[in-house]
Amino acid sequence: MVNKNKSKRIGKRLIAFAAALTMVTASLTGCGKDTAKAEPAPIENPSIYIAPIANYDDTSIRGMDISSILVEEASGVKYYNANGEEEDLFKILSDNGVNYIRVRVWNDPYDADGHGYGGGNNDANAAAEIGKRAAEYGMKLNVDFHYSDFWADPKKQMCPKAWKGMDIDSKAQALYDYTVESLKTILDAGADVGMVQIGNEINNGLAGETKEENIMDLLKQASKAVRDVSKEKGKDIKIAVHYTEVDDVIMITKKALRLSENEIDYDIFGISYYPFWHGKLRGMKNTLNTIKATYGKDVCVLETSFPYTDEDGDGFGNSVSAGDITGEYTCSIQSQANSVWDIMDSVSEIGGLGVFYWEGAWIPVGSDGNSNKEIWNEKGSGWASKYSASYDPNDAGKYYGGSSWDNQAFFDHEGHVLDSLAVFNPKFLTEGNQVDPKIEMIPEVIIEISQGSELTMPETVYAVYNDRSLNGEIHVFWDEGDINNVDTRTGGDYNVKGLIKDGATVNATVKVSYANLLENSGFEDGLSPWTVSYSMDSNPTDIQTKAADALAGEKAFHFWSGSEDEDFWVEQTVTIEEDGNYSAFGSIQGGDAGDHYVELYIKKNGETVAMFGGSYLTGWVNWHKLEVEDVSAVAGDELTVGMSVKCQSGGWGTIDEFCLYKD
Ligand code: CA
Repeated sequence: MVNKNKSKRIGKRLIAFAAALTMVTASLTGCGKDTAKAEPAPIENPSIYIAPIANYDDTSIRGMDISSILVEEASGVKYYNANGEEEDLFKILSDNGVNYIRVRVWNDPYDADGHGYGGGNNDANAAAEIGKRAAEYGMKLNVDFHYSDFWADPKKQMCPKAWKGMDIDSKAQALYDYTVESLKTILDAGADVGMVQIGNEINNGLAGETKEENIMDLLKQASKAVRDVSKEKGKDIKIAVHYTEVDDVIMITKKALRLSENEIDYDIFGISYYPFWHGKLRGMKNTLNTIKATYGKDVCVLETSFPYTDEDGDGFGNSVSAGDITGEYTCSIQSQANSVWDIMDSVSEIGGLGVFYWEGAWIPVGSDGNSNKEIWNEKGSGWASKYSASYDPNDAGKYYGGSSWDNQAFFDHEGHVLDSLAVFNPKFLTEGNQVDPKIEMIPEVIIEISQGSELTMPETVYAVYNDRSLNGEIHVFWDEGDINNVDTRTGGDYNVKGLIKDGATVNATVKVSYANLLENSGFEDGLSPWTVSYSMDSNPTDIQTKAADALAGEKAFHFWSGSEDEDFWVEQTVTIEEDGNYSAFGSIQGGDAGDHYVELYIKKNGETVAMFGGSYLTGWVNWHKLEVEDVSAVAGDELTVGMSVKCQSGGWGTIDEFCLYKD
């Protein structure tokens, strides 16, 4: 458990309020100023349901990355505890059960003029300050060395400026020296360092190196540096390696194997697990459990997060939105807590060390996007400042701005703590927290029927409650008008509203699939039974296997001619079995076609009876769906569906997903 009584002083940013409180406390108790401190103010009665975790070890890591805290404070951001009082973020976190703080460290996140790159401008000195303040509230520190001057992740592991041009031996030595020096700075400041990450999400590189043998050389020196400092300072510091994309089981287990083969000295195999990006919880748990059992290492989730809202708070778009959330979760305070609880529960079940939440307090510096921009650049409180361009011109230098994470904090946009933070409190994780049951969300309802069949709406829908043990089917009343609007004779998507108890509503999507009379309508089986004709010297068409250029599946009908103006058509003929009206559609995309004309047509017994055309080659994957409708035909008629293209030489594109259906 966290010792909340160790602190010698109140966070210095509490100024007026803290000073007043200190005086009151001192006069009431007669204690000296040095020992007086604000009383704990945890969330006592959270509005969210929390289940107890079976056999929960309350010494587990309940960590929070708050790397942006110093620049947030410098930007004027304030945090409020459960009583609505402004308070030191470190105290709020500690009071609610957070027992570990994580901080990223960049070698030199400043340009030649001393302007910070942003994202907290976190060098070793910033980490020392954060670690010291964490220790004052009894929280340990995880030092996350990126070994770069700015963000390091699977997409980039840029070399620090000072190490540019070094051969691998010199770089490994420089990395050793830097690690020793930085770690001593952080420890000497008073931080209670319990863990050091030797690199951040190093799947594809480290400090500008991408060759595995070089990465291993660097890891060896990083590890040695931590062990040496640990010994010199008489401090038990665990070494963590950190990877991501844990859903790629083969890749991630191979990483663990290669560390073992190269005899890398480390204690903790750590991963990032963002549930909306990295697959199912069970997969993550099984993979970590396998690595733990195979290599005898501790395991830990070093990063996770979840949105409590879909709202952006600072005028800089967010990384994760409602559309990214699937399964029995939604953007809500209860779901945020559920997601963290689920990961804590899984890690606990396999005997893992615990979970760190990433940047749970990176809230807006203000609500006005325009004035925020100045603050982000000046204070470094956005993900990147304009000054980062000198180091990372192609990403940060182009797209710099604010917090893309403000909807995933445990504080609202104005800094008030959310009840979801209570999921870090070991009291609730062991005893649980009961609240009145209510429906939290209804997972997406999709009803698929084939064209011409009868629509029967389900009598119940599946409901997810705040207490998920109550999840189950509940009765629903569907809107009769919406049901009548569903034309089961015509394919397409229809929305049907429903009413569930307590006046809550639910939306269902009825998908009526077309009974397509064409064969191989998307060219997935090659060309046959389609035929191609052209009035040119050579055939400008082929079947292309490239999912990015196909409307669906992997293949599409492709055209290009570099030498001749193009004039071709592709068509398929079917014999009609039932009298009725028939319609067709097909899609096309492409470009560089100059003056051109594209046409979708239906022929009946060889004569064109319906057509629709225009200039639709407007750029790559700008798909255009061409439709023709209401061709009457009787049994025995032959209907031909086709698309023709006339364009200038150099024109290119693909045609895909034809359909001929009876209305
Ligand atoms: Ca934002």
